[in-house]
Amino acid sequence: MVNVATVACDLCGLDARYPIEGDDGRRFCCQACVEVDRLLSTAPDPNPASSGDTESVTLSLSGMWCSSCSWAIEETLERSPGVDEAEVSFVRREARVSYDPAVTEPTRLKRSVRRLGYRAWVPGDTIKDEEDSLYYRMLIGLVLTMQVMMISLSIYAARWLGWWEAPGRDDIQSFLEIILLVGALPVVLLLGLPILKAGLMSLARGRPNIHTLIAIGALSAFGLSVRNLWVGVDRLYFDTATVLLLLVTFGHWLELRARKRGTEAVDRLWEEIPNSATVLSDSGSRVVSSDEVPLGARVLVRPGEKFPVDGVVATGAGDVDKGLLTGESLPEQTEPGDEVYAGTVSVDAAFEVVTSKVGPATAAGQIGRLLHDALWQRSSVNRLADRIAAMVVPAAVLIGLATFVFWSWRSGYETGLLNGLAVLLIACPCALGIATPLTTWLAVGRAADNGAIARSFDAIERLATVRTVAFDKTGTLTRRPLRVAGVLSRELPAERVLSLAAGVETRSSHPIAEAIAEAAGTPPNQVADFVVHPGSGVSGTIDGGTVAVGNQALMDLIAAEADSELLARAEQMQARGSAVVYVAAAGVVAGLIELAERMRDDVTPSIGSLHDAGVEVTVLTGDTETAGERWREALGVPVAAGMTPAGKAEAIARLSGPVAMVGDGINDAPSLAAADVGISVNEAADVARSAAEVVVLRDDLRTIPWLVDLSRTAMSKVRQNLAWAFGYNVAGVVLASAGYLPPVVAAGLMVLSSVLVTANASGLRRFPDLAEDGPSGD
Ligand code: ADP
Ligand code: MG
Repeated sequence: MVNVATVACDLCGLDARYPIEGDDGRRFCCQACVEVDRLLSTAPDPNPASSGDTESVTLSLSGMWCSSCSWAIEETLERSPGVDEAEVSFVRREARVSYDPAVTEPTRLKRSVRRLGYRAWVPGDTIKDEEDSLYYRMLIGLVLTMQVMMISLSIYAARWLGWWEAPGRDDIQSFLEIILLVGALPVVLLLGLPILKAGLMSLARGRPNIHTLIAIGALSAFGLSVRNLWVGVDRLYFDTATVLLLLVTFGHWLELRARKRGTEAVDRLWEEIPNSATVLSDSGSRVVSSDEVPLGARVLVRPGEKFPVDGVVATGAGDVDKGLLTGESLPEQTEPGDEVYAGTVSVDAAFEVVTSKVGPATAAGQIGRLLHDALWQRSSVNRLADRIAAMVVPAAVLIGLATFVFWSWRSGYETGLLNGLAVLLIACPCALGIATPLTTWLAVGRAADNGAIARSFDAIERLATVRTVAFDKTGTLTRRPLRVAGVLSRELPAERVLSLAAGVETRSSHPIAEAIAEAAGTPPNQVADFVVHPGSGVSGTIDGGTVAVGNQALMDLIAAEADSELLARAEQMQARGSAVVYVAAAGVVAGLIELAERMRDDVTPSIGSLHDAGVEVTVLTGDTETAGERWREALGVPVAAGMTPAGKAEAIARLSGPVAMVGDGINDAPSLAAADVGISVNEAADVARSAAEVVVLRDDLRTIPWLVDLSRTAMSKVRQNLAWAFGYNVAGVVLASAGYLPPVVAAGLMVLSSVLVTANASGLRRFPDLAEDGPSGD
């Protein structure tokens, strides 16, 4: 390995071999990072950097029934001494806390959460599975509830048969009723207390929620029965109380399971990186934790094993399966010099890899973090569902009260209580609360499974409404890599022109730059004063002379004259479908480089699918009008040529919106940011650097129409679920307040509604994968 002294890019952390100074003296690896950093610095920072003396910890939580619980925990943590900031994710069941280590420590934070009655674990603790413990409680509850139901039914049947009227049967009845109490009490304690706690938490916040309703319902049914038993009235509702609690617990368990499955896609990424790595050294090999492999160390990966780190292959050749990152299990021939990524699999060869990134810095680590962050966000449709739920609950309480008052006045307070209870139960907006987060989430998970990483749910929501998709041309619609087809020179020899051009281009990440650097092969000349002219080329000083590589606009800018014959040849090359760049040295155009440019095979089918879906397609390119005309003919869609990066961003604003922009993430930062949804392709290794909201890792443009389809399906499920849950609640409330629904039936219907909504959302898990056998880009 060559050891070059490098600094890390201030934005992406990559090695900056030829650092570029940003505005404030910070150093970046490429112009793109400078620009992205500029973009980011104008946007509000989602995670304000902590000062030097804070640390942060992520606590795992369990026992939360609803978002009120998470707010309660958040507030308690925030008020604890030494805590800077606390954020609780109900979805992830985690609390992120930044604190001052001089004042407090994670175990103290854990204790303050536990005092609230929830469970919490610090990293390193063995976490008790919430789903399991709920499952066992539910089983015990089920057995006892069945008992209570059986006895209650026999009492009802005997009453109906007139059996209790015979003399001496009273004692038997009293005995059975006491057994009912004995059976129901543990159910109320085991299943009811957690719900009561959640209900009280939200009541304390002045926002009664579904758990408040259920707690009131179950406790009043139970309390009324105990009172009736005491005074000798034989109307008991132990069955109502227990069935209600059992059903609600069942609903909660279903929801918990669905959530857990929803986050699997994310957790899988972390789990796929092997824990340990075999590091080779002169004295043999040793096994170390894969996070702790030193950068530059050689790691051995045997056939069938997964790569534990990101790096470059030093020895070994064979197939590598990148399915983890791209969602597509196609073995790819990999040779010395090629990059490999942690979590991907060596199919049939032994590789020695020079480590370039470990742990969270690896591509898989970056993706995991992006998805993790996406799950911490609340999308606008989730907020809408929350708002509806927040209105439904107080309304339900009011209608419930009115029902209670009305029926108490008409037929006595017991009837009033039962009918009021039924209203409260059927009005529970549980389904509302589950439906939307679950759907958006499964959509993000499905996309990740197919190699498309969405940074937020909002991206999916907006993608569903997109009317126009704008594609960048070079690097997006063209096959990678471009190939240098020829060099035409004046005065200087052709090799010199190429090597001068390559000298400047080694510092650029543009696809044209890659092709030129590749063609020159030899180590680059040292370049100084390197400047990127976005959308027109690059320039720099080599051996004391200025060299510029780029399009006509750049030549005009530096006033480099080209003779008419060169211009005529350039025109010919473009007419036959090549891209042409000019190389200027010492103020004159010294030559042309012709780059063979071919369209990817998946462009036509992708545009076809987008058209079928009613989406318009446009191509925006910085290339010449001649090239634009050719692409317009080949694709049959509008092509805007000669665009500067800023021009592209303006053009997007003029398209009929909402607009999705598809580009190669780092080169097209301004237009990706300008679009309603920015989608980047071809950035497998540098997801975190991309300016886009959706990063497509799979080398297949058909992912774009597939994503549109997925998000539309997801959003229509959200709408169905919202409409259904809302309609169901309204109809139920009307029936219940009219006295047609016994509380047990109301509870059953409410849980049924949640089950239906969950099932509808879960259908997204079966959304078909992107076909693997389609045309590929190469
Ligand atoms: P596109 O919109 O087709 O992806 P860009 O906006 O990235 O293209 O670039 C527009 C034009 O600018 C290219 O066609 C090329 O002529 C020139 N150009 C941009 N970057 C470079 C570079 N690094 N080297 C040479 N030419 C470049
Ligand atoms: Mg481009």
